[in-house]
Parts: sequence; structure tokens; C-alpha cells
Amino acid sequence: MQVTRRKTPTVWVGPVPVGGDHPVAVQSMTNTDTADVEATVGQVWALAKAGSEIVRMTVNNDEAAQAVPEIKRRLADLGITVPLVGDFHFNGHILLRKYPQMALALDKYRINPGTVGKGKQQDPNFKTMCEVALEFGKPVRIGVNWGSLDQGLLEEMMDVNARRPEPLDAHQVTLETIVESAVRSYDWALKYGLSEDKIILSAKISNAPDLWWVYRELAKRTPAPLHLGLTEAGMGVSGIVTSTAGLVPLLSEGIGDTIRVSITPAPGEPRTKEVEVALEILQSIGVRQFMPSVASCPGCGRTTSSFFQELALQVSQRLAEQMPLWRTQYPGVENLKVAVMGCVVNGPGESKHAHIGISLPGTGEHPRAPVYVDGQLKATLQGDTIAEDFMAMVEEYIRRKYGKRLA
Ligand code: SF4
Repeated sequence: MQVTRRKTPTVWVGPVPVGGDHPVAVQSMTNTDTADVEATVGQVWALAKAGSEIVRMTVNNDEAAQAVPEIKRRLADLGITVPLVGDFHFNGHILLRKYPQMALALDKYRINPGTVGKGKQQDPNFKTMCEVALEFGKPVRIGVNWGSLDQGLLEEMMDVNARRPEPLDAHQVTLETIVESAVRSYDWALKYGLSEDKIILSAKISNAPDLWWVYRELAKRTPAPLHLGLTEAGMGVSGIVTSTAGLVPLLSEGIGDTIRVSITPAPGEPRTKEVEVALEILQSIGVRQFMPSVASCPGCGRTTSSFFQELALQVSQRLAEQMPLWRTQYPGVENLKVAVMGCVVNGPGESKHAHIGISLPGTGEHPRAPVYVDGQLKATLQGDTIAEDFMAMVEEYIRRKYGKRLA
């Protein structure tokens, strides 16, 4: 299915284009103390290597602000050019003015209208951040978060709601306030001199149905590129499923120009997990292709040994290991489809849909494994070396199909 993307201006975040006709970009955020240069450089490096195309870091105090230019320098020395985004709350207007080298080093500033300042301070602080962005030629992301929603605006919207003949419930008014906060802030940013190609919007919420409503409204009410993501999606399977449920309907409607998966890593789990999940989401719905895909059946009573699971794992791991090299050596290899199936019930059929696929022998079947290449039966493997022989066939196929393009 071809998704028609919503039309937006292109916003350049460092070397990465966001919006327009450009691919949906993957973002992530560090959880190191930004003032700890070594730890932050290490994590940004890992996130970028995992596939994050934009990395955000908190800039919450003087030490963090002073560290940013050094982080940028060290990453450049390592050949990492991933754009860095400064996440500001409460004191962004002060830090951006006080540390021009930091303002210059960052590729985008995130402004949260709910934490930019209270009452009379909100407007001048917001204006200062826009002015610094304008001065340094940087884009901003105006990121509303329902956990830090502008309380003054919420009260105003509640008052308006109370005067309606049929008032909405408080939850719906909160959702409307989230949208209103983003839309009004977008208009202010334009008023303070930023052009449409310098503003990205987001409005994060922690449950999927509300996220759909809010982003559909934003898509109707502003032309800005939208950064999608649930906030506080949770941990483990729940976090992954909730994030997927939140993002997929919007992406499939063409809404969303960058994404982040905000899962809480389990103790010891790498921060790169959020990038891995984001790539999988985009790839699974055909929005982008990063890696060859491996289709494998779940197994059932016809697969009584773990051999089939081991082979599926081995193929996936080998492809993942080789991709950093193959990506340049074999352009287009990310589109490869491999099937590893547990028996002949669905095996040959699924294998024919893949570029190369194998059906292992199920219980009671002859110990032979037919391999299909481009829909045709190419070989029947047997014996103790089925796994090695199949991997050799996959690699030979890659060389033949994608190696030619170098000529
Ligand atoms: S392909 Fe065979 S082994 Fe796999 S789930 Fe279907 S019946 Fe079971």
C-alpha cells in the first residue's frame, strides 16, 4: 500500500531534512547527564550507529550547556554528524542567550510552551528562544506534552467550555487545549520571525486513541511537519505495543514526519532499544526499509525441535551483523526478503513470496528442506549442514542481485 504523505514544508535539522517529500526520520533521546561529555558522546554514538537520525539531549543547566560544544566536537572527530537537539525547560531562554557556542552547536531547539515561563513571563521567554533560533538560523520544535500542559491556557479553555450550551468533559477539553497550545505557539513563532521552514510541532500524550485525535487535529490546523511519539509509553512489551498502536494509524494516514519511541529501558537494557523499535515500526508498514526482512512462522506441533527457531535467529543475526558493510557494498540489499519456515504446510508458499526462502522438514516429513529463489525451487538441502548451506545461498543471492549495481 502506498501512503500519501501530508504536504508540509521541509525543515532542515542540520543535514537531515524533515517533512516535505523526505523519508520519515527516526529520533531518539539520551538519558545521560549531558554535562558528562564522555558518557553523552558514547550514547549519542551508539544511538546514531543503531539508526537514529536525530538525537535530542537535555540542556538543563550551565554545566550541560557548556558541555554541548565539546560533545559536538568529539562526535565530529568520530565521524558522527547526527544532528543534536537541545531539550529546554524553564531556563532555555537564559541558557540560549548565555551560551552562544551551545546555541550554535545545536541543530534544533525544543521549546515546551508549558515550561517556557508562567504568566507574564511566558511570552517574552518564548520570544527570546525564537530570536536566538532566528539569529543562529536554527529550527525549533514546539513540543507540547500533556504532562506539562500550559495551565493558564487550560483554565482559559475550561472557562470557554463552561459557557458552551453542552460543555465537553474535562478530558476532551484537555485534548483541545493540547492542540490549541501547539497551534497558538506556532503562530507566535511566526510572529517572532521564524519562517514555516523552521518550525516542527509535536503534542505528546501517553495513550494511543488520544494521540490519534490530537495529531489529526494538528494536521488539519497547521501546515507544520509533525514529530510523532507517545510520551511515557512504558516498559517492555507494553511500551512497544503501545507505541506501535499510537504511531501506525497516523503514519498510515500520511501524518508524521519524524518519530520517536519513548520506551523506558529495563535496567541493563541498552538505550538503543527505542531506535530498534522505531526502525521496525517504519519498516513493518512499508514506510521505510532499513534492513532485509526475515519472515518466519511461529512454529507449532509440526516443529518438534528448536532447529527451525535457531535457523531463523541465525539468519536474522547474520543479516544484522553484515548490514553496516552490505549497505554500501550492495545498494538496495535492505529490500531483501528471506523466509524461514517450519514445515511444508505454508513453507513453500511463503518462500515463493520471498526472494529466497527455506521450508524445514516438520515432524514426520522427509528430512529435506526445499529452497525457493525468486519463486522457483532452486535446491533441496539435507544433512547436517542445512543451516550453513542456506546461509551460503542467501549470501550468494545478495552478491548476485545487489552486487551488480556497483558496476
Ligand atoms: S508453517 Fe508449518 S510449522 Fe510453521 S506454523 Fe505453519 S504448520 Fe506450523
